[in-house]
Amino acid sequence: MPLRVLILGGTTEASALARQIDSDARIAPLLSLAGRTTSPRPQPVPVRVGGFGGVEGLARFLRESVDAVVDATHPYADQMSAHAVAACREAGVPLASLVRAEWQRHAGDNWQVVGDTAAAARALGTAPRRVFLSLGRQDLHVFARAPQHHYLARLIEPPDRAALPPDLRLLQARGPFERADEEHLLRAERIDVMVSKNSGGAATYGKIEAARALGLPVVVIARPHKPAGVVMTSVDACVTWLHGLAPRGV
Ligand code: NAP
Repeated sequence: MPLRVLILGGTTEASALARQIDSDARIAPLLSLAGRTTSPRPQPVPVRVGGFGGVEGLARFLRESVDAVVDATHPYADQMSAHAVAACREAGVPLASLVRAEWQRHAGDNWQVVGDTAAAARALGTAPRRVFLSLGRQDLHVFARAPQHHYLARLIEPPDRAALPPDLRLLQARGPFERADEEHLLRAERIDVMVSKNSGGAATYGKIEAARALGLPVVVIARPHKPAGVVMTSVDACVTWLHGLAPRGV
């Protein structure tokens, strides 16, 4: 009987893990997506979409059909991770967390690290600036509190129009983004300052390199505390961990 593995995904790493175990007869994977994008990339393994209904809903789901969980959610998806830790404990299911390394500050980086999105909006100051927002669509409404700035926001999908800053232009695009293209964009849009999460990984690092090359300041929103199970730093380590587990009842 294969090991039934729930991958909490929505990230490059989750998709990479899914690809790696797709043809592994010892593992029966199910990839779970939050449903933040209406047309997610095609995945090689079975996919389910949408929340579980909190810790209780997830614990029920685990008891019924899961032998192990890999939390490969985005570094800022802290609620899902907290639920995973609590539900796995409750259901007695082993949990590994695939953790993506943070970007480190390099010489030439002009970062101002702040605690959350509201602090990032405040850090832009009172004088009007041209701001590049490279954030999720759930975060944009916070910048309505700083309406004096011009914003260029890059998103995979357009946000809900309600409560957005008045002077905002949307750029719909999905990564990865190359440094040269990012530099071109920042120049062409005469951006004064960028707001970014510290997502880590290669797919969106081009904007950080571009800001460094242009001497642009970046307001970096620090990562939230993200509860974890057994910490893994690579897809290979996750696969090895999964191979060491047995299906429940065997
Ligand atoms: P979250 O705040 O940690 O989760 C909120 C709720 O969404 C969870 O309680 C859960 O609902 C559901 N959920 C989240 N991930 C799920 C998954 N993989 N499968 C099923 N349900 C899931 O996470 P978030 O709202 O997705 O995002 C938080 C931050 O991370 C945002 O700033 C966002 O921009 C950033 N981010 C997220 C993703 C992503 O793929 N999720 C990607 C890039 C960036 P229930 O309680 O009902 O189970």
